[in-house]
Amino acid sequence: MKIGVPKEIKNHEYRVGLTPESAREFIARGHSVLVETQAGAGIGASDEDYVAIGAEIAPTAEDVFANSTMIIKVKEPLADERKRLTPDHILYTYLHLAPDPEQTKDLIASGATCIAYETVTDRHGGLPLLKPMSQVAGRLAIQCGASALEKNEGGRGVLLGGVPGVHPGNVLVIGGGVVGFNAAQMAVGMHADVTILDRNTDVLDRLDAHFEGRAKTIYSTKATLEQALSEADLVVGAVLVPGAAAPKLVTREMLSLMKPGAVMVDVAIDQGGCFETSHATTHDNPTYIVDDIVHYCVANMPGAVARTSTYALNNATLIHALRIADKGWKAALQADPHLADGLNVWNGKITCAPVAESLGMQS
Ligand code: NAD
Repeated sequence: MKIGVPKEIKNHEYRVGLTPESAREFIARGHSVLVETQAGAGIGASDEDYVAIGAEIAPTAEDVFANSTMIIKVKEPLADERKRLTPDHILYTYLHLAPDPEQTKDLIASGATCIAYETVTDRHGGLPLLKPMSQVAGRLAIQCGASALEKNEGGRGVLLGGVPGVHPGNVLVIGGGVVGFNAAQMAVGMHADVTILDRNTDVLDRLDAHFEGRAKTIYSTKATLEQALSEADLVVGAVLVPGAAAPKLVTREMLSLMKPGAVMVDVAIDQGGCFETSHATTHDNPTYIVDDIVHYCVANMPGAVARTSTYALNNATLIHALRIADKGWKAALQADPHLADGLNVWNGKITCAPVAESLGMQS
C-alpha cells in the first residue's frame, strides 16, 4: 500500500504520524512511504533519515495526498487537508469529531475511510491509542507544575523534593487513572509528599498496592478534597467521566482554602477542566493566576515533548496501521473488532454511534 505522511499544520504541533523507525516497518513489508519534506523536523528526524530507510520525500502536502492511499497523521485534518481527501483515501489519525461538526461534515463529503485513534478499543475496555498521551500528560504535569511553583513563575517557591532538613512539597492528584498514576509516579520519584484522591475503590486498591505507602490514597469526597487542597503545593486535576464533561470538583470558593502561590495543573482541560476557574491555555502562555493560585491549563500538553510523544504514539498506532496496509482496511477491521471501533466515517456516513449521537446525526 502507498502510505503518506504529511507535515502537521496545526499551530504548535510538532509531532509526526510516522517516525523513521515506523516507516521502515512498512517498507520492510513491501509498502511504500511518502513523507512531506520537513515532516519529522519537530522530532529531530530529517528528510535524510527517512530517505535512509527507503522512504521518499514529497515537496508538498498536495503531493503526499495525491500519491498515497493511507494518510497517517497525528491531529485531525484541518480544512486545507480535508479538501484533499477523496473516496480512495484511508485516513488514520486522531479526529475527535464529537465537538467538531465542521470537520465531520467535510469528512462525510470527502467519501474517505476515516479511522480515529481515540475510539479504537482493547479487550479490557480501554482506549489504547489515547493511553500513551495520557501517560505523557501525567508525567509532564509534575514537570510543568514543579516549574510553575518557582517564585519567578508566580509560584510559592517550593522545591517538590525538598532538601535534607526541609519538608518536601505536597502534591495532590485528583483522579488516579492513567494521567493520575503517571503524575503520582513522577511526584513520588521526586520525593514529594503525594496524595491521590479517587472515587473508585478498585483504583485506590491498585494504587495503594503499587505505591506501598509512598503515596497516600484517599476516597474522594468534598471533605477529603477540601482538607487535601488546604495542604497542597501542587494539585493535578486528572479526572475523567467517560463521554461527559469533566466535573468541576474544585470550585472558586475552595481556592481560598489553598496556600497563596500554590499551583493547579488541570490536565482534564481537554474535557472542559475539573477546576471551576480553569480555562484552556497554550504552550506560549501556559499559566495565569486566579485568587493567588497559579493555573496551568494547556489542552495539548504532549505537543511540548513532541519527540517522546511521537514515539509513544507510534508504539500504539503502528501495529494497527501495518495490519491495515497488509490486509486492506476492510479485512483488517473485520479481523479485529477493536480496530473496527475506530472507524468513524466511511462512504459518506458516520459509522461510530457515540459520535453520531453527540452530533445529533444518524450513523
Ligand atoms: P482515566 O479514565 O484513566 O482516569 C480518570 C480517573 O478519574 C478514574 O480513575 C476515575 O475513577 C476518576 N474520577 C472520576 N470522577 C472522579 C471524581 N469525582 N473524583 C475523583 N476521581 C474521579 O482517564 P485519563 O486517561 O487519566 O485522563 C484524564 C483526563 O486527562 C481526561 O480528561 C483526558 O482527556 C485528559 N488528558 C489531557 C491531556 C492534555 O494535554 N491536557 C492529555 C491526555 C489526557
